Amino acid sequence: MEHRVRIAQTGSPDVMSYESFEPPEPGPGEALVRHRVIGVNMIDTYHRSGLYPTPMPGTLGVEAAGVIERLGPQTSGLGLHEGQRVAYAAQTTGAYATVRSMPAERLVPLPDSVPDEVAAATLLKGLTVEVLVRRVHPVRFAEPVLLHAAAGGVGSLALQWLLHLGAKVIATVGSDAKAALVKEQGAEHIIVYTRDDFKAKVRDLYPEGVPVVYDSVGKATFEASLDCLSVRGLLVSYGNASGKPPPLDIGSLATRGSLFVTRPTLFSYTRTRAELLASANALFEMLAKGALKPHISRRFLLKDAADAHRALESRETTGQLLLLP
Ligand code: NDP
Repeated sequence: MEHRVRIAQTGSPDVMSYESFEPPEPGPGEALVRHRVIGVNMIDTYHRSGLYPTPMPGTLGVEAAGVIERLGPQTSGLGLHEGQRVAYAAQTTGAYATVRSMPAERLVPLPDSVPDEVAAATLLKGLTVEVLVRRVHPVRFAEPVLLHAAAGGVGSLALQWLLHLGAKVIATVGSDAKAALVKEQGAEHIIVYTRDDFKAKVRDLYPEGVPVVYDSVGKATFEASLDCLSVRGLLVSYGNASGKPPPLDIGSLATRGSLFVTRPTLFSYTRTRAELLASANALFEMLAKGALKPHISRRFLLKDAADAHRALESRETTGQLLLLP
């Protein structure tokens, strides 16, 4: 019998229920993937809480690694075969399950060098980082960068990739324990932003401001992040961990020095299979040369997915979390 974690209404983690189900045969263009490891992402909590709309009732989750169990019709020409190890980062929910049918063209074949757990810990988050630091804004050697929530799932991978590029990273974190972790990874400056005014600290370090800020925290940091930018600087607002950023007065970008703001999502940068595979290859290269090392801090059984959500939302986690079916 197969199992999945469903919600029938939005709300707290208590709305999640573990149930058995009969998976449908894969349709045209689909592959049935048997999950070995499932990635936990902040976005899963947004789907559950209702911050991001998702079909209801529905199965949560957008990322997993596993094996192709069955290929549906019209799936040739993608370089996929039954029994192949694959992973995916999906725009649609359904990963908190023992098996799932996925559009085959969104599956990424896994090289032997990338174990299942590493794939589930890094595919969605690592592709996001690839997009952020190489394509949304190609970070230059010695460029000062402000990175929020640097001990988190995406944040810790972003920190490593930025350091690999030679950026001078100012990392913010929510606690001293997280600061110690980020220090170990080599961040140039660390600010505990739950205690200290990060805008003042950034201006102490760089009186002219920094050219780029990566902000996944949203509501709590958005305005002050804009205030950290140098003239013609770029705010990359890519998440809402503390809630949606406030509405933006476009005119305020002029008075603050002709600033830029972008709100990227991974999926508009990996729309085609070619874009998806190129991004994945860049990630796999970073993993293979040891420049990127996931920090898998906790593993939960799939049936305990609600506990993973509680941990993530209480800000007590670092690195990546996994669910084991
Ligand atoms: P994280 O592991 O980074 O967890 C979220 C972190 O945000 C917390 O650990 C915490 O770190 C910080 N945070 C600040 N304020 C709050 C708050 N009020 N409640 C909870 N957490 C808070 O999660 P992920 O790595 O899964 O995701 C990180 C961010 O990246 C999310 O905002 C997510 O939406 C975004 N994202 C965006 C994508 C895109 O395509 N645009 C794709 C993937 C992720 P601390 O205690 O150090 O402040």
